[in-house]
Amino acid sequence: DKLKESKVFMRALFDYTPLEDKATPCQEAGLPFKRGDILQVVSQHDQTWWQAKRVGDCNLRAGLRVTEMVRPLLYSGLRRSFRLSRKDRRGSSGEANVSDQNDTEFLTYEEVTRYQQKPNERPRLVVLIGSLGARINELKQKVIAENPHRYAVAVPHTTRPKKSHEKEGVEYHFVTKQAFDADAQNNKFIEYGEYKENLYGTSIEAIRSVQAKNKMCLVDVQPEALKALRTAEFKPYVIFVKPRLPESRRRRSAEEDLQEMRLSAQQIDQQYGHQVDRVLIKEDNASACAELRSILERLERETFWVPVSWVK
Ligand code: 5GP
Repeated sequence: DKLKESKVFMRALFDYTPLEDKATPCQEAGLPFKRGDILQVVSQHDQTWWQAKRVGDCNLRAGLRVTEMVRPLLYSGLRRSFRLSRKDRRGSSGEANVSDQNDTEFLTYEEVTRYQQKPNERPRLVVLIGSLGARINELKQKVIAENPHRYAVAVPHTTRPKKSHEKEGVEYHFVTKQAFDADAQNNKFIEYGEYKENLYGTSIEAIRSVQAKNKMCLVDVQPEALKALRTAEFKPYVIFVKPRLPESRRRRSAEEDLQEMRLSAQQIDQQYGHQVDRVLIKEDNASACAELRSILERLERETFWVPVSWVK
């Protein structure tokens, strides 16, 4: 009974197969799990091994009826830490200016707790990242256009001249190059980049001002920006959109494109997968929009696992 009362929940940030672990004292006792699984740690008495049971598999499912999903008590050994080797790193294809790549990092567990947005709380930030071919900006714009009273984009800054039909603060905040550079220096942007010799970027303030209107803010960023966004203030819900790819194409050139898209998805998955709450496989625009819409609705109603440091 005492074991049942444990309130310590961990999200596993790596896959673990006890049978492949030579350090396991007794392989049958090991609890296999996948990155993203929520584990209830029932005992931390041992320095090297915890006793734990699995609660749910991923964030969205854990938001359902949690108690029903608890598997038959499966107390078993749980390795405390694991060195994640990060081989096969390639240069990022993105253009974001932020970089958080360490060569090795210990990815172990993240302590999490259940969180449900209360009516008087500001909506969570929704962060879309996408692999090559996912076209997340289109997706974001479409879902917002259908429901502009509830969802909004953070208005970006740009150094390009304003067009006659545009309004300051609506399409963009139009600023000088000096002002933009100063803001960039002072880390005011979550991301920025250059396009046709003009600078474009999204500021932290722009997100705050959407949330101040009690709307859900949707941003699409390079995954490098995740680190800056994963804060208690924003409580981001991170959706990784990847296009559904066919097995192979007949034309050689199409096959190469496909290969590039596969690689892009793999890289993001490897480097940032542990920060992703939900993977959305995009078949076509319409179905992806419908799925995104349904995720956003559930986000306001249901309970989700978030890092304990975000709550309180
Ligand atoms: P336009 O000048 O036609 O309004 O935008 C041109 C391009 O600027 C967009 O297609 C997009 O690639 C880029 N852009 C717009 N907003 C942002 C932003 O917030 N950050 C970055 N990095 N690029 C942006």
